[in-house]
Amino acid sequence: MKIDHKKLQTRIPVTSDFIKIDNTKCTLCDRCLIICVMNLWKKRGDTVYLVDDYASHCLECGACYQVCESDAIDFRFPDGGTGIIIEQG
Ligand code: SF4
Ligand code: SF4
Repeated sequence: MKIDHKKLQTRIPVTSDFIKIDNTKCTLCDRCLIICVMNLWKKRGDTVYLVDDYASHCLECGACYQVCESDAIDFRFPDGGTGIIIEQG
């Protein structure tokens, strides 16, 4: 049976950036690009960046932050609580 995961997610609008990258620390290792299940990290030339509307798709899993060994990614949960609620049932 195919599960429609979108129906399990309730999204709360996020008003400010909650993930930032410091490109001066980035070593272009690609770990964030590989780990993000939502494919929100991109690389163009020598620059790694998040897609513009990442906040609308990010699962707030923190995996990109965890795998960045260069401390180039700053992650915190959005102001006022998380922007996503996963419902089960
Ligand atoms: S994991 Fe960190 S160092 Fe590696 S590409 Fe991503 S931001 Fe750059
Ligand atoms: S927190 Fe998770 S879903 Fe969001 S950008 Fe990082 S790896 Fe992708």
